[in-house]
Amino acid sequence: MSHPTYHNLIGGQWLPAASGKTILNLNPADHADVVGEFPSSHAEDVDRAVTAAKQAFARWRLVPAPKRAEILLRARNILVENKEKYARAMTREMGKVLAETRGDVQEAIDEAFYVAGEGRRLFGVTTPSELPDKFCMSMRMPVGVVGLITPWNFPMAIPSWKLFPALVAGNACVIKPATDTPLSTYHLVQALVEAGLPPGVVNIVCGSGSTAGAALLEHPDVRAISFTGSSAVGSLVGQRAAATFKQVSLEMGGKNAMIVMHDANLDLALDGALWGAFGTTGQRCTATSRILLERGVAAAFTGKFVARAKKLKIGNGLDESVEVGPQVNAAQVETSQRYVEIARNEGAELLCGGCPLAEGPYAQGTFFAPTVFAQVKPSMRIAREEVFGPVVALLTFDTFEEAVAIANSVDYGLSTAIYTRNVNRAFAAMRDLEAGVTYINAPTIGAEVHLPFGGVKHTGNGHREGLGALDFFTTWKAVYVDYSDKLQRAQIDNAE
Ligand code: NAD
Repeated sequence: MSHPTYHNLIGGQWLPAASGKTILNLNPADHADVVGEFPSSHAEDVDRAVTAAKQAFARWRLVPAPKRAEILLRARNILVENKEKYARAMTREMGKVLAETRGDVQEAIDEAFYVAGEGRRLFGVTTPSELPDKFCMSMRMPVGVVGLITPWNFPMAIPSWKLFPALVAGNACVIKPATDTPLSTYHLVQALVEAGLPPGVVNIVCGSGSTAGAALLEHPDVRAISFTGSSAVGSLVGQRAAATFKQVSLEMGGKNAMIVMHDANLDLALDGALWGAFGTTGQRCTATSRILLERGVAAAFTGKFVARAKKLKIGNGLDESVEVGPQVNAAQVETSQRYVEIARNEGAELLCGGCPLAEGPYAQGTFFAPTVFAQVKPSMRIAREEVFGPVVALLTFDTFEEAVAIANSVDYGLSTAIYTRNVNRAFAAMRDLEAGVTYINAPTIGAEVHLPFGGVKHTGNGHREGLGALDFFTTWKAVYVDYSDKLQRAQIDNAE
């Protein structure tokens, strides 16, 4: 069957890669279903896109921010009109179930609405001068051309977290979407184009990380890189971008713990654990990949959790009754399989799943059975390393302090959760869990766009998306206006 061909967007024109090479985008639930063919771009394409962005930036930075914001609001409306179409396309290109891809598009809609409001804020501050007849203020300035590198698991939401604040602040963008999911980013950018975004202000360059992504990191005219992806690639991105003094925001992996105390509402914790661990087939940076159970409730929780994990309906996410879709590609399935072997060899007990599903309705896709390990020790790799699949580790503890110590013992620090009815424990957890996000009586997933999003330790380098994104996509300028009509020297003329 024929499939559509998509191009890069460079300077307002849809262009194939200079090499003419393409990459096929396949449905992970059914490899016979080709979603589309996308450019396989290299340094030459990136250079064209950055040049177009640089030219567009000269004009875009002068467009009043409220006008820039109006374009975002129009794009929001286009996303609303096309929500179902874009959600279906997203399920086809990356597998997660329709309820979740509708949520992904909704997140972009929410982000547009939230960020558009910034067009009439972008506040700076005024402050008194230490000298008479002098006025001081600080202003937010755009950074210039920014490069955005995004993962496949939230293929519209994550690009929107980066594109919208970058644009409202007056930057021009070159985005390199994940190789597996260019179509959802294409739809997002298409909405901006239809909304009236001037040519060159946003450019898409599709292709692999090692070619298109690497070229963006090295380009001297790119002033900032906002990256979301794995910690291994993030470390590389930080190092490469440092060579040309780029600002870098890194949002990376997680090994997120949910703590279940003896006084928790166990049924609520079960619902949360199931959603947190197996939503998006476990392929969320915030996925609940460790469940820490107070010893007294461990047996009851484990029995019910495994029973429900076994009943989850797995299949093509376009079927509304399916609860867990495929993994995004064969490499992710191999990673899940590898960690099952690692966990077994370390002595963890496999309670369910543990293998790919390849028969009957699963034969054409990349499916993996929801997998639960018990008897996991905090030192085991299955308790410390990100799997990014439907694989969850159950650990036990005796005291709250021990649970916090286990939760904090990993290199990552993205999301955490605690189920308890004890308000003192809840507040101690908010204070003591080393993570960018903590949930009380809710699973580790479910961020809202207007709060800060990001992590500590190997998960992030200190920046935040959502509330905080403008701090990355703007630079502060201090302005001093001396109206005394004479030379006034700071620190000297007003000295005691
Ligand atoms: P990945 O690190 O493999 O790829 C991320 C992006 O980087 C892709 O666009 C890829 O093409 C690009 N890339 C790869 N090599 C590159 C290179 N050498 N130079 C430049 N770019 C390069 O990650 P992934 O598999 O797409 O996504 C899964 C990872 O993302 C998980 O670790 C997950 O935890 C993380 N993630 C983090 C967040 C967060 O906000 N913290 C959100 C979603 C996903």
